[in-house]
Amino acid sequence: MIFVDGIGIGEADIINNPFFTHSFKTFTGHFGALPSLENAAMERDGKYLFPVDALLGVEGTPQSGTGQTTIFCGFNAAAFIGKHFGPFPFSTTIPLIQEQNIFKVLSSKGKKVFFANAYPKVFFDYLKSGKTRVSTTSLSYRSAGYKLNTVNDVRRANALTAEITGERWNRKLGYKIPVITPESAARRLVRIALKNDFTLYEYFLTDYIGHGRIADEFLAIFRMIDNFLFEVIAALPTDMTLLVVSDHGNLEDISKKQHTLNPSLAITAGKHALQLKENIKSLIDVRDAVDEVVMK
Ligand SMILES: [Zn+2]
Repeated sequence: MIFVDGIGIGEADIINNPFFTHSFKTFTGHFGALPSLENAAMERDGKYLFPVDALLGVEGTPQSGTGQTTIFCGFNAAAFIGKHFGPFPFSTTIPLIQEQNIFKVLSSKGKKVFFANAYPKVFFDYLKSGKTRVSTTSLSYRSAGYKLNTVNDVRRANALTAEITGERWNRKLGYKIPVITPESAARRLVRIALKNDFTLYEYFLTDYIGHGRIADEFLAIFRMIDNFLFEVIAALPTDMTLLVVSDHGNLEDISKKQHTLNPSLAITAGKHALQLKENIKSLIDVRDAVDEVVMK
């Protein structure tokens, strides 16, 4: 499973929709077209691209905290607290996240689960300082009893940095890790996934660039995630199942820097691609749909 922050399916707009401005080979290469609201569901060779409801029946613009909690924990977090909230999980949902997240559910049934992201030292220092505002995924994995990967796991090729290649870690955080291509990172993720029943990788820079942050790196990041996703789908073993899903729209409409009201993007490929596509209509459906496939 690859969670990609802030990608929805939006208008086919060559100015404001960067997928149409710059194209995106994950879509064109694997599906033969770019998704838009008019062409939101596509199928090719057992691979599916489809919209997922992110509004959750709650007024307002979808946010990461409630969206991700809903994805990974299988309940409508926005309805639970009465609003969309983010970027971090809302306080009253934290006990529910700790008990109901996908890692905990699957590991309690004997499945081998793995969160493939690594975290830099600054993050562990942040945790040591007693601060608790962390993402849904890292909270979920730790509350299921697992340790987050470190830079050493990246060096051993057992994890990926959150920015895929390692280049930003070197440039921004002063590491000297080997920089890998997005394609090589994709194949590493598939290799890691072969060792587990359920593997998650999380990518959030798509939401950053959708918000207009790090604008000088927009195209580099856009190409990087495209090359990465393209190769994961291309390198997917036939007996593996892939789900790519996002929590809300953002990047598909850069005319505004906020999240959008568009449906979230989902892609499924591999063994149980059709089953996932049939079972996932809303973010609320993701956890149980994944659980069902992993338990098969
Ligand atoms: Zn988000």
